[in-house]
Amino acid sequence: MKPSIQKIQKIIKLEADHGYDNRAVIGGLDRILQTWEGEARAEGVPEELVQAIGARLRDYPRLSETSRSEVLEGLWRRLQQETGTSAPPLPPVPHSEKASAPVPPSPQPSPSTTQAALPQTVVQPPAHPIVDSPRPPAPPGEPAALGAPVTVLANVGPKHAQTLDRLELHTLRDMLYYFPRRYDDYSQLKPINRLEFGEEVTVIGTVQNIHARPVRSGQTQMVEAVVSDGSGALRVTWFNQPWIARRLHPGAHISISGKVEQYLGRLVMNSPEWEPLEQQQLSTNRIVPVYSLTAQITQRWLRRLMNQVVSFWAPRVRDPLPDHLCRAAGLLDISTALLQVHFPDSADMLQAARYRLAFDEIFLMQLGVLRQKRAWQAREARVFEIPEDWLQSLTHRLPYTLTGAQQRAITEVRADLASGRPMNRLLQGDVGSGKTVVAALAIAMITHSGAQAALMAPTSILAEQHYKSLLQILAGVGIAMPQPVQAELPAETIELVEPAELPESEELAAIDEAYSREQPPQPENQLAEAESLPDYPLHPEEIRLLVGSTPEAEKRQIQAGLADGSIKLIIGTHALIEEPVGFKDLQLSIIDEQHRFGVEQRASLRSKGDNPHLLVMTATPIPRSLALTVYGDLDLSVMAEMPPGRQPVSTHVLTPRERERAYGLIRSQVEAGRQAFIIYPLVEESDKSDSKAAVEEHARLQKEVFPKLRLGLLHGRLRPDEKEDVMGRYYAGEYQVLVSTSVVEVGVDVPNATVMLIEGANRFGLAQLHQFRGRVGRGSQPAYCLLIPESTDAVENERLQAMSETNDGFILAEKDLEQRGAGDFLGTRQSGFAELQLARLTDVRLIEKVRRHALELFEKDPDLELPQHQLLGAALERFWGGGKGDIS
Ligand code: ADP
Ligand code: MG
Repeated sequence: MKPSIQKIQKIIKLEADHGYDNRAVIGGLDRILQTWEGEARAEGVPEELVQAIGARLRDYPRLSETSRSEVLEGLWRRLQQETGTSAPPLPPVPHSEKASAPVPPSPQPSPSTTQAALPQTVVQPPAHPIVDSPRPPAPPGEPAALGAPVTVLANVGPKHAQTLDRLELHTLRDMLYYFPRRYDDYSQLKPINRLEFGEEVTVIGTVQNIHARPVRSGQTQMVEAVVSDGSGALRVTWFNQPWIARRLHPGAHISISGKVEQYLGRLVMNSPEWEPLEQQQLSTNRIVPVYSLTAQITQRWLRRLMNQVVSFWAPRVRDPLPDHLCRAAGLLDISTALLQVHFPDSADMLQAARYRLAFDEIFLMQLGVLRQKRAWQAREARVFEIPEDWLQSLTHRLPYTLTGAQQRAITEVRADLASGRPMNRLLQGDVGSGKTVVAALAIAMITHSGAQAALMAPTSILAEQHYKSLLQILAGVGIAMPQPVQAELPAETIELVEPAELPESEELAAIDEAYSREQPPQPENQLAEAESLPDYPLHPEEIRLLVGSTPEAEKRQIQAGLADGSIKLIIGTHALIEEPVGFKDLQLSIIDEQHRFGVEQRASLRSKGDNPHLLVMTATPIPRSLALTVYGDLDLSVMAEMPPGRQPVSTHVLTPRERERAYGLIRSQVEAGRQAFIIYPLVEESDKSDSKAAVEEHARLQKEVFPKLRLGLLHGRLRPDEKEDVMGRYYAGEYQVLVSTSVVEVGVDVPNATVMLIEGANRFGLAQLHQFRGRVGRGSQPAYCLLIPESTDAVENERLQAMSETNDGFILAEKDLEQRGAGDFLGTRQSGFAELQLARLTDVRLIEKVRRHALELFEKDPDLELPQHQLLGAALERFWGGGKGDIS
């Protein structure tokens, strides 16, 4: 019998066994015609028969299942007549009730666009609404069974289960939700004589000959086969799979999918996927799922297993989203989505499936944060009523006028404190936007009625800086930068000291410019005017600093003061939660640079009081998409305005060869009395070779580049007191240049520093570079940020150019989020977010759409008590890991 006849018989049989769903050939039965007709004619099949088959199959996709079965049965009989054989009739259409609903034709993207249309990474809404018809009734089955272990599957014994364990696949549900890492689009079916170099296609043909032979002096086995389809012949090779030669024999009908390559001027395929034609096609001739694997399992094996799970269980999954919601949002039902995400019928279906599943992820995340917020708001907190004139007098005492953004933030904080519910506010303001004073006023509002406040910062350098600022704002203790000598004196006795290096007039000019653009300069001697103002909110001894290096005796003294309430404000590092610190009446917890802290640490600081108000501050600009999701449980105050007089830091990307220019700028700035930072990427022992160690560079710079300057060195391996000493000397101007690793990143304020040189700039994220840049330009002098990547890689340079194009932290954060994912932003806010497989936290459009639906549902049924929301409630519990999701 002619191979082409045999082939079409096999396809017809396969299609009939599938229940006439037009899936025996990806994209529809009609798509095989092009190849087949050529093949049949080449073999001399009578033209009349070729035309008859062509005419019937061309319309096949548009027929109802009943008509399909009639057409195929007709062809089946005709082929038998033709070949003089006899075979049993084809099976009937399986569910006759389904026969009335015609299956929509599979969309047929033109071959050239198919590849591009595959949504490998980005989830997009379906181009046109796919769901209009009511849901198909789920076949009977026990949804709870989805929690059953994978060992219930035939083919999965304890050994396989162990392997699957490594992929975190424990239950059937885990398997259903183990989405392909990517897809290979082999849905383009082509005759061999039309193949083109480089394309990824499927060929259906007959094995002409096949044999295995050793190559490379016997180290490797190569299987070589020639496959023909009537239009031509194709050489196919497989390496190190000698078993293929035992499985495949001349005359076997197979479908092969892979990339068309060239060898000695002829087209070939190397190690393509292949399957016998009579078997259900999972690895060829379709859009093929590619899963992440682990040792001991193969893509083929996992695909078969997945297919087994998905085809049986996906239709039995009950949809957690109410029907009306799916319709309103234009979503596929969950069963179809799960089927299609694993074994898509078309690029369009895949896109619709991914959209539906991404929607679910964001939806559950949103419900979680909404629930979190509501739980928080249900608690009671002490009411702090703040007299207007008292607040006015406090702000008037400041050496500058508050910006509009600061005023708004303060108004919002004040309203929170008076609300009777715990404040849960995220204060987001770019580096230098003046968050500290907002925190200071919040503290004053609390301590005004005798309660206590705590401020926790991620590093001792930062904690100390806050300590100084707050002493100044809240207790009127004017401290300039600490001189190493004075650090030993008790805080109260320290007087305002001006850095000795600068001529007095210049220093005054700097203060004038920085602080008094809008206002006449404040009298330098504030004490004179202080008579007419009310007292400062706190006495210096009511404010204390607690860091790891605080001497034991002092720690005990501080603990006692917090316990008896004589200390009103404690500023510190992790030491605040690690030390046995108890408060008499903690009513306000403030956390600076919140993304540096873990969930437990924040919770632990909060738990030191009785539902205290919480203010978290961050300089990492939070893109809108994250504000709606990850931070959706917090109220947000954004300070998008800088204090007046700030100049944008002029930023340049230099090639490594232009380094000398950077050094030149540093020299001239230091000569003009300014200071500079030079930052090196953090050095682990392991990558010492390719990144410059701050330690080594410090020695080199001192010796060869800046022999006349005083260079300090700061890195993570210094002891805390050593770090403080270095910082102290740099504040004091004793060091003119500070060579540092990224430890200097957070919050450090040295207004006299005007140059920030960053080596290995390509190693840092944009958000982090922006933080570094924020260390300069805090005074009134023009400031510079110089970025030197390790190589002149164009792509890196382009990314870094973003830094020179904008000083806007928001824009940079958006870019960073796109490029590096959400890791930098989430910190330890992991719970729930690890569940995101398909949704991207950058997808504002999806997020906003989901939010509307989530809010609507939440307002109707916040506790998900209605019967139609039971499944959703269970899904929510699973998503948030059974309520561990305290994410504030
Ligand atoms: P950040 O938001 O980065 O924590 P800071 O609170 O450290 O910013 O403020 C940066 C600098 O700006 C400080 O020296 C502070 O005194 C000053 N500053 C804050 N608010 C104003 C303002 N409204 N006008 C002028 N200077 C301000
Ligand atoms: Mg700060």
